[in-house]
Amino acid sequence: MKTPFAFGPVSRREFIGQLSLGAAGLALATRGRAAEALPSKKLGVALVGLGSYSKGQLGPALKVTKNCYLAGVVTGNRAKGQAWAKEFGFSEKAIFSYDTMARLSDAPDIDIVYVVTPNGLHAEHAIAAAKTGKHIISEKPMANTVAECDAMLAACRAAKVKMSIGYRLHFDPYHQEMMRLAREQDFGPLLKMNGRRAFVMGTWRWRADKKLAGGGPLMDLGVYLIQAACMAQNHAAPIAVTAHEGPKTRPDISRDTEEALTYSLEFANGARADFFTSYQGSGDQFRAEGEKGWIEFKEKAFTYRGSVVETSRAGRLNFGPFVNQQALQMDDFAQCIRDGRESRVPGEMGRRDLCIVEAVYEAMRTGKRTLVRA
Ligand code: NAD
Repeated sequence: MKTPFAFGPVSRREFIGQLSLGAAGLALATRGRAAEALPSKKLGVALVGLGSYSKGQLGPALKVTKNCYLAGVVTGNRAKGQAWAKEFGFSEKAIFSYDTMARLSDAPDIDIVYVVTPNGLHAEHAIAAAKTGKHIISEKPMANTVAECDAMLAACRAAKVKMSIGYRLHFDPYHQEMMRLAREQDFGPLLKMNGRRAFVMGTWRWRADKKLAGGGPLMDLGVYLIQAACMAQNHAAPIAVTAHEGPKTRPDISRDTEEALTYSLEFANGARADFFTSYQGSGDQFRAEGEKGWIEFKEKAFTYRGSVVETSRAGRLNFGPFVNQQALQMDDFAQCIRDGRESRVPGEMGRRDLCIVEAVYEAMRTGKRTLVRA
């Protein structure tokens, strides 16, 4: 059978076809390091960048993961690395700087390198780590541009390592329910979608810097809406987009990027998604509606916990206690490596989303409906 998520640029048709193989197809697929090469030992993860997401989410998650553990760090601040080594019980030999990433090849305990630096550095750090033979997770968005995604995928292909994106919501039961609805069509095709994701950025941060972030809120927040729309379309990508930039109320913060944006995605089956994203607003919602019903993420659609989700059929959904999305995501990737199969959130999915992002920016710049190039 054809290997899902073959590395390197793939046509959209191929990619959608690969996605539609579904979980059963994924489970059967094999590629990369063979299962027998990595039996059921816990795999070592090195975090690259010890900022707020590593400190607040990934580090704590790596204390509860079953298939992997924190085995090292890459940081510009050695004292910080030493504090992490002490807390997580790894050797100070496993503290690397951004300039010494090539030495990761001397760290056999590190199997996976998780890139958690600003978006504009993901390609540089992921490629440096792939060259040392480590499997890669890159945080979202995968990179600033599709060209950078291609370079990352090529580096992973050359090194015969796997690549995954930090798309934690694929491991969230509410988003999984939406994907099930999209797959099984309980409500028919979910043809009408809308959503918003925004927060107020009070002072300038790298997230509003074109070089480090690749753009404004579309890169950071809008990607969640794009992901949700593709989930609701059973992983199909949109064929065309339109977009309009909002006014700049804080030009001191959003200097060379958009502050706010409305954008719409059109899908081949006639589905449409209308979205808003901003660094000077609020919102964390998503709704998808079919002829026979709807699912609505009314609050905290994309946050780590506390989602309020309803469907027309079941009312408020309750999938039980808190689920650690990051722990599940990393454990799944470690299991994929052990089993020699591809991640359900592969690099190709990150690249697909950058294709959509680039089309949205082009539509915003030109004011024209823009086709999404695969
Ligand atoms: P952050 O600013 O808190 O941390 C960034 C880290 O990168 C810091 O340790 C910083 O020292 C380091 N760094 C290295 N070179 C740098 C440079 N030239 N400029 C600035 N920082 C540099 O950011 P964060 O919130 O941890 O975000 C990191 C990545 O994780 C981003 O790609 C972001 O989109 C992603 N993220 C994902 C989620 C999620 O839910 N999946 C949540 C938050 C952040």
